[in-house]
Amino acid sequence: MSDVNPANPPASGAETLAKTASTAYDAALEVIASVEPRVAEATRKELADQRASLKLIASENYASPAVLLTMGTWFSDKYAEGTVGHRFYAGCQNVDTVESLAAEHARELFGAPYAYAQPHSGIDANLVAFWSILAHRVETPTLERLGAKNVNELSEADWETLRHEFGNQRLLGMSLDAGGHLTHGFRPNISGKMFHQQQYGTDPETGLLDYDLVAAKAREFKPAILVAGYSAYPRRVNFAKMREIADEVGATLMVDMAHFAGLVAGKVFTGDENPVPFAHITTTTTHKSLRGPRGGLVLAQEEFAADVDRGCPMVLGGPLSHVMAAKAVALAEARQPSFQVYAQDIADNAKALAEGFLTRGGKLVTGGTDNHIVLLDVTSFGLTGRQAESALLDAGVVTNRNSVPQDPNGAWYTSGVRLGTPALTTRGFGRDEFDKVAELIVEVLSNTTPNSTKAGAPSKATYTLADGVADRVKAQSAELLDKHPLYPGLELS
Ligand SMILES: *Cc1c(COP(=O)(O)O)cnc(C)c1O
Repeated sequence: MSDVNPANPPASGAETLAKTASTAYDAALEVIASVEPRVAEATRKELADQRASLKLIASENYASPAVLLTMGTWFSDKYAEGTVGHRFYAGCQNVDTVESLAAEHARELFGAPYAYAQPHSGIDANLVAFWSILAHRVETPTLERLGAKNVNELSEADWETLRHEFGNQRLLGMSLDAGGHLTHGFRPNISGKMFHQQQYGTDPETGLLDYDLVAAKAREFKPAILVAGYSAYPRRVNFAKMREIADEVGATLMVDMAHFAGLVAGKVFTGDENPVPFAHITTTTTHKSLRGPRGGLVLAQEEFAADVDRGCPMVLGGPLSHVMAAKAVALAEARQPSFQVYAQDIADNAKALAEGFLTRGGKLVTGGTDNHIVLLDVTSFGLTGRQAESALLDAGVVTNRNSVPQDPNGAWYTSGVRLGTPALTTRGFGRDEFDKVAELIVEVLSNTTPNSTKAGAPSKATYTLADGVADRVKAQSAELLDKHPLYPGLELS
């Protein structure tokens, strides 16, 4: 275990900074309380709750006080539709500064030719990417064919032609139950409705991505967009292979690295595992393993830069300038050498967590992990994901239930629990602590039994956690949490 906690690097002055942040938050809460004391109170309580729970939600993290404080300023008051230096509102010179900085840090950090910092979230970033690809592949050639400079010049009949073209594009993405995201073509999501979609899954035996199967599907379906990336797949992806497949069928490769951007930024995923050089467009959130403010980011090859740059007005309105400022701060943090230590710790800790389950007889989807995610199959404890999630929460362990491939319990009850290491690694948890976390989780699950339904079958929802287990586990978690305080030195009066 590394003794460097990147959330609290032992730099000189860290203590003074924590004191300053405490003063800042005390003052801020006092101002908030003067208007709506219940919001101030909930804000205080949220800190206490986050400090007291063992957070294993794979998509969450703890941003630094610098990032958090950057979000609470008057940049929020400014409209800045348009792009840097080309705004539809007056007085955007300071927004230009922070948006340029966010984009510059993103380009340098990820080695991308172009970066767009405006998307408000991961879903926004994906919508910008989809419509940029459609602009590039469909709109521009159609306009050329019709002899029009832009859509305003189209007749109603030509516009109908273009709309028909937009509506008949194909997207191939990873299925939700194999670990893909809603926005990768899931039917209830806009991505599953605006595109003809098909999905690729994982090998039913191994749970691993099978590139030959993806290639076979791509050859048959001929998608315009091939989407790679995931929210619940515990393994690395070979993006060079995904690009080869895209090239073979003439598709644009879009990689959604929302979950694992921190591992790319921290140079844990390099070579073929780094999507940025291989994807035409890479999207991400900034608040998951990247540890920034809630938001999105689009990276692109030069070829797509002008299309992505039209994110506003194509998809977006005014950017969240205060969040773009916080993205600049977070990306500056991620460019520090200490972030690479953090990212490696995330991966090492996930391995320790996985080992911790395997040595105690747990069953893992794909048999292990080589990223930040561990997918525990809880059927070996005789439980559904829903029961496991709830019993763990009773014992102060925060996780989320998740489908496993070909899930026998469906998408609501599920058979798995998804666990991630980014948040607790920020607190400074190391391998020994993650092994202990596995022990505590196994203790909860092996002391949980499904209740019986009226018909005498095991319930999928209700359960009984044996007496005393929750308290025992909470006490042991508290020891770990006290050893690794969240926001050390930050004290509210
Ligand atoms: C989390 C996630 C998103 C969505 O991000 P939001 O900010 O919640 O909109 C998109 N894609 C993937 C792969 C994700 O994991």
